[in-house]
Amino acid sequence: MLAFAGVLQQCSYSQTSSTAKNKTMENNKEVKKDKNSVYSRTDTSKVNLSEEEWKKVLPAEVYNIARQKGTERPWTSKFEGFKEIGTYYCAVCGNALFKSDTKYESGCGWPSFYEPISKTSVIYERDTSHGMIRDEVMCGRCKSHLGHVFNDGPPPTGLRYCINGVVLDFEKAKEAEKKYNEKKG
Ligand SMILES: [Zn+2]
Repeated sequence: MLAFAGVLQQCSYSQTSSTAKNKTMENNKEVKKDKNSVYSRTDTSKVNLSEEEWKKVLPAEVYNIARQKGTERPWTSKFEGFKEIGTYYCAVCGNALFKSDTKYESGCGWPSFYEPISKTSVIYERDTSHGMIRDEVMCGRCKSHLGHVFNDGPPPTGLRYCINGVVLDFEKAKEAEKKYNEKKG
């Protein structure tokens, strides 16, 4: 809520910083998206692209939810009933957001978690659109819209982070993968 003024001021951030960052990232051997050069699972520096730039680098459905604050249709996400062990990242910038052990079946039709991976992994803003008062959840690194948080979640937090699966990337935990392979023989 306090951050809101800051968001407005940063909207027109210049292209130069992202270009400089891209150069240093070229040497990193890591997960990267084709056109999206800010995507990184290791770089934690804040990302500030213009909406025009986001539109160029993101797939249309990701852009619609992440940058236009859209909502995917309920029960459409592959992550809704997904039970693999691992980490969920921001599909826009690669920021780690949630761990699978805080994911639970909320029955609301969207992937739900009771706690983000760290205090800074997500940020919040009061959302009064559509005649409701809700708390919007955004990525702490790139400020993309992720979903909303409600007070009807399970212990220990009592919170329900209701997140659009489209803006999530999942990586299986290495340990879990090893066990799976052993079982397979
Ligand atoms: Zn992000």
